[in-house]
Amino acid sequence: MDAFELIDKAEKGHGLDLDGIAALMSATDDEVTEELFAAARRVRDRRFGKTVYLYGFVYFSTYCKNNCAFCYYRRTNDLHRYRKTKEEVLTLSASLEDAGVNLVDLTMGEDPLMYVDAHRNLIDLVQSVRDTVDIGIMVSPGAIDRAAFPALREAGADWFACYQETYNREMFAKLRLEQDFRNRMDQRIWAREAGILAEDGMLVGIGETPRDRAEAVHMMGTSGCEQIRAMTFVPQAGTPMQDLEPRDSTEELRAIATMRLVFQDRLIPASLDVEGIAGLKTRIDAGANVITSIIPPHQELAGVAQPELNIDDGHRSVDYVIEMLEGMGRKVASDSEYRSFIDAHRPVPRRC
Ligand code: SF4
Repeated sequence: MDAFELIDKAEKGHGLDLDGIAALMSATDDEVTEELFAAARRVRDRRFGKTVYLYGFVYFSTYCKNNCAFCYYRRTNDLHRYRKTKEEVLTLSASLEDAGVNLVDLTMGEDPLMYVDAHRNLIDLVQSVRDTVDIGIMVSPGAIDRAAFPALREAGADWFACYQETYNREMFAKLRLEQDFRNRMDQRIWAREAGILAEDGMLVGIGETPRDRAEAVHMMGTSGCEQIRAMTFVPQAGTPMQDLEPRDSTEELRAIATMRLVFQDRLIPASLDVEGIAGLKTRIDAGANVITSIIPPHQELAGVAQPELNIDDGHRSVDYVIEMLEGMGRKVASDSEYRSFIDAHRPVPRRC
């Protein structure tokens, strides 16, 4: 089957096996790429219409006990760190809700303070945000104990995000130093068992092969995660990977489009954290239907892949993003539309 036939097959919802995904991810011909993106847009629009979901980002603690080779916030990197107070997190969440986002993503490094006493500080924070806002809540706390998931759900978490980054175990060991591959995979399983929607993600441009990328897409999609993403690696100062040649977003866009074709009902983000607002249109044109990493300006908040990009100039703020989307003929989901998506897709908790 040639690439056009694979695209056609996937667009019709017949699925692709790993070889088919790998073939699409490796096709570099311009006409094939154009058709890949066009088919991804058709699939997205048939299923989700012109509606896009907006996620606000609150990176509330940049402390971390881990030492991931790719991450600016790794333990041994000497940098200014912050930990927002609960009041600050509540104020930020409320202001994001007022501005019109559908969800607030509460993200932290693996901050030891949030892990003490069976993650009590994290669970209390989620409960307080739940008591303050009516929009969706995503929690991105790194790897946590299995017992914490029901408590997080009880506190009001709708989503749990934890990215595997790669499904190549050797590469995982080099990226996520001294971390357990299986335990990280289990995080999303445990979240879904507790009735929390889950997000997985892969890094692109870390020295992986096209086959590695295809395996990651296949694994993320077949695991059942309701949201799956690809993000281009951005070399970070002070890390062992700081001198890696930066890559453009071509492979990420191809991954977004392939995921859209093969896993048609999933939410697929366009992250503002890679290329800032400049990268929004290309990702939407590749089939994404969620905008993530929207950050209120002037709040001394950081991004993950790009700690400062477009944050204080306001180009990652809600108003600016909405204006851009409207210019592209897209509309932001109402809170009730987004809530309906969550309710329809929430995994059924497993009772023991
Ligand atoms: S990727 Fe996450 S866990 Fe790893 S060093 Fe960075 S903040 Fe910590």
